[in-house]
Amino acid sequence: MQETNQKKTPIWLQMRNQASGPEELLALVAHRGNAATPILELCRCLGVGLWDSDMVEGGCLEMNTQSGIANIRVQRASTRHRKRFTIAHELAHLMLHEFDGKIHRDARGYPQILIEHEASRFAAALLMPEHLVKIVAPLYKYNTSEMAQVFNVSKEAMAYRFQNIMSGVHDPMRKRRKDG
Ligand SMILES: [Zn+2]
Repeated sequence: MQETNQKKTPIWLQMRNQASGPEELLALVAHRGNAATPILELCRCLGVGLWDSDMVEGGCLEMNTQSGIANIRVQRASTRHRKRFTIAHELAHLMLHEFDGKIHRDARGYPQILIEHEASRFAAALLMPEHLVKIVAPLYKYNTSEMAQVFNVSKEAMAYRFQNIMSGVHDPMRKRRKDG
């Protein structure tokens, strides 16, 4: 029986007890520094333009596979968390869907549309990777509000994501759908 308070158990011991491997240790370093996905940097790496715009909808995507142009516009008035999610959502459309030469606008109130749902699941996986969530969750005693701060997402997005992971909802496949 352990007499020490669980809260005082050092991280190394928690991880030793959880039989953490190299991946978990590396993830922890990332977590201590910043587990939040550097979404702006990712856009830069991908060569995707990013703009703040005054617009009604949360965001939109312009893509052209011929010219190689990809631009994401995000509603200027959105919160920081909302913007991060919107950018991830538009990146998902860029990876998954066909809007060639067109501008896709995220209309509010249409979450039931399959592609919007797909894009949001992809975005959640990008901002809150399953393997990281599973490592971070016990360290924060499954408190999704605190976990949200770690991943720099909204509490609602974190709670929803955590619920999905715990109930075994699988992440979207890496490959693009051919039938869509
Ligand atoms: Zn969308």
